[in-house]
Amino acid sequence: MPPLFFAETRKITIFGRFCFLTNESMAGIKCIGVLTSGGDAPGMNAAIRAVTRSAIYNGFAVKGIMRGYKGLVFNEIVEFKSQSVSNIIQLGGTILKTARCKEFTTPEGRKAAYDNMTAAGIDALVVIGGDGSLTGARLFAQEYNVPIVGLPGTIDNDLGGTDSTIGYDTALNTIMEAVDKLRDTASSHERLFFVEVMGHTAGYLALNSAIATGSEAAIIPEMETEVDQLAELINHGFRKSKNSAIVIVAENPKTGGATALAERVKKEFPQYDARVTILGHIQRGGSPTAVDRILASRMGEAAIEAILDGQRNVMIGIENGKIVYVPFVKAIQHNKGIDRNALELVKILSI
Ligand code: ATP
Repeated sequence: MPPLFFAETRKITIFGRFCFLTNESMAGIKCIGVLTSGGDAPGMNAAIRAVTRSAIYNGFAVKGIMRGYKGLVFNEIVEFKSQSVSNIIQLGGTILKTARCKEFTTPEGRKAAYDNMTAAGIDALVVIGGDGSLTGARLFAQEYNVPIVGLPGTIDNDLGGTDSTIGYDTALNTIMEAVDKLRDTASSHERLFFVEVMGHTAGYLALNSAIATGSEAAIIPEMETEVDQLAELINHGFRKSKNSAIVIVAENPKTGGATALAERVKKEFPQYDARVTILGHIQRGGSPTAVDRILASRMGEAAIEAILDGQRNVMIGIENGKIVYVPFVKAIQHNKGIDRNALELVKILSI
């Protein structure tokens, strides 16, 4: 039975401001579809569980859409009950599977998606994914007037308007454990290790894993050229006082990432025994941390609250511990910026 406070006004926070909303605009929504899209991230299952159970608690029917937007375009939609999401909070990956879907980027693909969605009786969507997924959601919502709420599901933490994304903390911990192990071999062999981490075009994972592992430097796309950063590292850090070092490098297809950097070091500073480790997809896997499980649970429930409040075209974010609604357009802007003090911290603490 849905709770009686359905018809009441609700107090919510939008960008730190309290607003009172009625749930009139959600009238007519009976069934909510949920999908995971783009790169998988640990905590997506916890989010699916929270969305499903909160929706059912509030009297909605739920349908799971398989393989992201592919499931909408090619009609892979399944009934979800409370038990469909039993025993998944601790699992990495996503039980709904995920995919990149080229067809959804075309008007014909989105038309097929809309036809399948309406045929399945779905009135609103919760999309769990990164900036590409939310870009697609924004377009779809505009074209077909579909109420969509997004959840930030990506290890990259590159979405605007939220302090963290679902999966980021787990990936950070995975990197930390791997680098701790590399530190043992780096120090035994007196080597300079370049460790490449993910992050898309953002340096969050690189910067904060550098702090967490006591690394000598973080090379991130948001900062000045790699040449300058590297020269500084070699001249002021490694050469003077250390016989081993770890440099965390954010992936960067434009510059070639850790491999290209290590090649340059080998050429310019042949006296150093430079090695490269690319952590790769290991960063995406594993059981989500408590931080990610709690974040995903809170955000999943907040997505249903948002639908009840008549919100659409917003992503659920978290700022200073509070749930906020972030318009898609702000969430997908790549201008979140990096904390320059954090970069300075890596430098100060690695003397
Ligand atoms: P991650 O941050 O982990 O890479 P993501 O959500 O950014 O996740 P993308 O591959 O960029 O992953 O996007 C996922 C899907 O979203 C795409 O495969 C496509 O179906 C849809 N999508 C992305 N951009 C658009 C767009 N401009 N128009 C329509 N759909 C889009």
